[in-house]
Amino acid sequence: AAAAAAALENTITPPVKVEHTQLLIGGKFIDAASGKTFPTLDPRTGEVIAQVAEGDVADVNRAVLAARKAFDQGPWPRMTAYERSKILFRFADLIEKHNDEIAALESWDNGKPYEQSTKIEVPMVARVFRYYAGWADKIHGMTVPGDGPYQVQTLHEPIGVAGQIIPWNFPLLMLSWKLGPALACGNTIVLKTAEQTPLSALLVGKLLHEAGLPEGVVNIVSGFGATAGAAIASHMDIDKVAFTGSTDVGKIILELASKSNLKAVTLELGGKSPFIVCEDADVDQAVEVAHFALFFNQGQCCCAGSRTFVHESVYDEFVEKAKARAINRAVGDPFKSGIEQGPQVDSEQFKKILKYIKYGIESGATLQTGGEQLGSKGYYIQPTVFSDVKDDMLIATDEIFGPVQTILKFKDLDEVIARANNSRYGLASGVFTRNLNTANRLTRALRVGTVWVNCYDVLDPTIPFGGYKMSGIGREKGIYSLNNYLQVKAVVTALENPAW
Ligand code: NAD
Repeated sequence: AAAAAAALENTITPPVKVEHTQLLIGGKFIDAASGKTFPTLDPRTGEVIAQVAEGDVADVNRAVLAARKAFDQGPWPRMTAYERSKILFRFADLIEKHNDEIAALESWDNGKPYEQSTKIEVPMVARVFRYYAGWADKIHGMTVPGDGPYQVQTLHEPIGVAGQIIPWNFPLLMLSWKLGPALACGNTIVLKTAEQTPLSALLVGKLLHEAGLPEGVVNIVSGFGATAGAAIASHMDIDKVAFTGSTDVGKIILELASKSNLKAVTLELGGKSPFIVCEDADVDQAVEVAHFALFFNQGQCCCAGSRTFVHESVYDEFVEKAKARAINRAVGDPFKSGIEQGPQVDSEQFKKILKYIKYGIESGATLQTGGEQLGSKGYYIQPTVFSDVKDDMLIATDEIFGPVQTILKFKDLDEVIARANNSRYGLASGVFTRNLNTANRLTRALRVGTVWVNCYDVLDPTIPFGGYKMSGIGREKGIYSLNNYLQVKAVVTALENPAW
């Protein structure tokens, strides 16, 4: 740990230059109407990477005008679906071509390991756009029998102008889950990035236009939630809003939508997902996957397996091995090769996580390893493992969103089902067992949007994702997210001569 802390003193220069810091509205990079900017910070040091245009209500209004014009008069919803599809395929190719540059911006702004960005996330973003490019010309309505002498059909039409508000933990992946289906269906978009991570989206926005996207179809506004975000949620001329972030802000979005024009709302919110290790599980494999389920992306995953329930018969062995694995986790500068964990995204998250670690210690959980800042600058936190965690401790009920594993003991399946479901959240879960009946029982009993059996975080674009309960409304990815961006129009035409 001392060597790791010492290594953090010399930050590696990211292999990229920041070229785009303005808002992208109507196909052009422009300053905020107010002329204001805000700093985006390097989580390794807290130093300023760049000043970014700060979009506000006036800029959201400008972006909505551009999106409205592109929808009402522009070519995007009117071109053939095949043309739209080709532009999205070209865009995916450009993402691949610029893979390392995009990945470097993502890691610099967010703190995630560069190898994770280059090898997993940016390729996955290209994959998501290819998946939805493929959908563009496969979206269609039905013919319906009807009761009378009518020809009845449904038209699946784009919903119009979509507002999209995304978080900082997977800036580009969240952008792809939102833009992909919205574009495939022919909508136009006003997207607000998170204030912590505005950079990668602007480069990608430029590539979208390079791929042939007409101006005004995708407008990107960097800025803060209470101003730009709220302006999107409450705008009278936005037809739908999609949000990913905290449950508290999700409630605000729903309220603003209802108080304005009743725009359609989909929400992807927080979680406290159970990861259940049964007595017959392969313990070594379960330890490794449970470690990944919690620590991946510095623990900043909405679907993190953040309540690790372990059967009493394998509990002691599991805790020892989970502790050893956490101690071996490679924490360091995200631009160094072989690094598994970088800094947390910002000082607010960093302080919040350390506060939860303190609560954990005070409430009597056993701190197996970690628990402190790593090094002396930036927002690095030691991989932390708590055992003897009880269900009512704050570290077992609240979303910590950091590298803190909480291990709880259970005796039998009925008990663990009740405890796993005893949460306001219902986003995801993991089940480790070699018994098919146990797996089947748990997959049906858990009130969550995803059950991963003997695996975790398998998140390719074909698989729907979303939450039960206070983890959200609606599903993203797969065929399911197309519905979020479509209106269904019934067309009933009287038949002159019903007989044939
Ligand atoms: P946050 O909710 O504060 O911010 C998310 C986004 O909402 C940002 O773009 C922010 O600027 C904007 N926002 C903030 N206040 C707003 C307001 N009043 N009106 C409109 N927009 C507003 O969340 P955070 O703390 O930055 O992110 C972490 C949270 O996001 C976690 O709770 C995590 O679980 C959740 N999350 C969920 C998913 C998912 O898919 N379900 C994915 C990633 C993150």
